[in-house]
Amino acid sequence: MKYEKLRGVKDVLPRESFLWEYVVKKAIEILKRYNFSLIIIPTIEEENLFIRSIGDATDIVLKEIYNFLDKKGRKIALRPEGTASVVRAFIESSGEFKDFFYLGQMFRYDKPQKGRDREFYQIGVESFGVDSEYKDIEIIKLAKDILDNIGIKSYEIQINNIGTKEDQKNYSKKIKDYLSNKKEKLCPDCIKKLERAPLRILDCKNESCTELVKNIEPICSFITKDLKERYEKMKNILTDLNIKFTENKNLVRGLDYYTGLVFEFVTQKLGPQQNTILAGGRYNDLVEELGGKKTPATGFAMGIERICEVLKTENFSLESESPDIFIIYDKNYIKEAFLLLCSLRDAKVKTVMSFEENSFKSQMRQANKLSSKFALIIGEEEIKMQKYSLKNMKDGTQIQIDKKEIINKIKER
Ligand code: ATP
Ligand code: MG
Repeated sequence: MKYEKLRGVKDVLPRESFLWEYVVKKAIEILKRYNFSLIIIPTIEEENLFIRSIGDATDIVLKEIYNFLDKKGRKIALRPEGTASVVRAFIESSGEFKDFFYLGQMFRYDKPQKGRDREFYQIGVESFGVDSEYKDIEIIKLAKDILDNIGIKSYEIQINNIGTKEDQKNYSKKIKDYLSNKKEKLCPDCIKKLERAPLRILDCKNESCTELVKNIEPICSFITKDLKERYEKMKNILTDLNIKFTENKNLVRGLDYYTGLVFEFVTQKLGPQQNTILAGGRYNDLVEELGGKKTPATGFAMGIERICEVLKTENFSLESESPDIFIIYDKNYIKEAFLLLCSLRDAKVKTVMSFEENSFKSQMRQANKLSSKFALIIGEEEIKMQKYSLKNMKDGTQIQIDKKEIINKIKER
């Protein structure tokens, strides 16, 4: 019996997993600089937590939630996103900590396609307790610094302000009025949304729907005066900080909990279905809606797969992944080679050898395949001379180093 992975999930093999490690490491460097702390949240929750927070007319809840009944008949869901769980944990821990980051897999029962998996990974950030334009900017700059530290070159920051829940209600009426006699131009999903959640139509990726809503006056013209002023102030400070952004007046995000500022980091490298690599915004009502004290909050999540895809299109490679030394030995001297391997590793030199006692030629091939920087050769000659040969794999030059000095000489390089 041979097993295969399920549809929509994947194995990330070493030819790619080094990119993941790198992305996580670079993200954490910045998160620590901003004094955010890791929170580890469960992968399963009561399904209701997500329905309540994400919204029952969103794509995630309508189509994508990965749910099941447990042995006691409780409705459980694999988490489709991280915010709801972090908010629940924030409330359960009585708001002891404020600035979090998380990383881990999310599950959405979507139709598997390029850039859309049923299990995918996110790094996310949530910050509780402060409702100010400075916090909004801090979060956008944090997101930008992470992408810059990873080395992503081409992205655009899109922002919008979708107002309070009250503003959104009023605006939904506007959309409904405007579209009620144009239903035939909407996709079937959006016809349903027209009744349940008109704002969600702005989030549709269908071209005819996108065209249609372009003509509606944007939501940011309807938001309360205070929010509008704050939004203007925020844009000015972003400009002071030299952070370039564009306003996307139809940006609403695919989850219901957002109020006020929303943003997406968009790339042109991956095609329209997966161009958002990072997304977030403010959600000042969610803590209260989930049973906590009213607490303003904001955050974002970035998809690791899409970030790695962008790195691949930018021909990213990691020098540091290749070994420093590949030990090539005559099979009579395998023990000597192995002891040296251990000593070099103890001396923090990234060293590799093959245990298969292959020919010189085949070992050299392996060293090349791994792009090893040097080959250290232990053959009959070397043993006789009490010296090892060190071959620079880039330029082919070779030198002899006294056995006793080998560790020091290598560390010098
Ligand atoms: P989209 O509009 O692309 O469907 P979304 O609004 O569902 O995105 P969020 O829930 O905000 O996205 O998730 C944030 C990020 O997580 C996305 O920008 C993307 O990078 C990643 N992401 C979301 N869904 C998937 C998926 N099915 N497969 C891989 N990555 C995903
Ligand atoms: Mg989605």
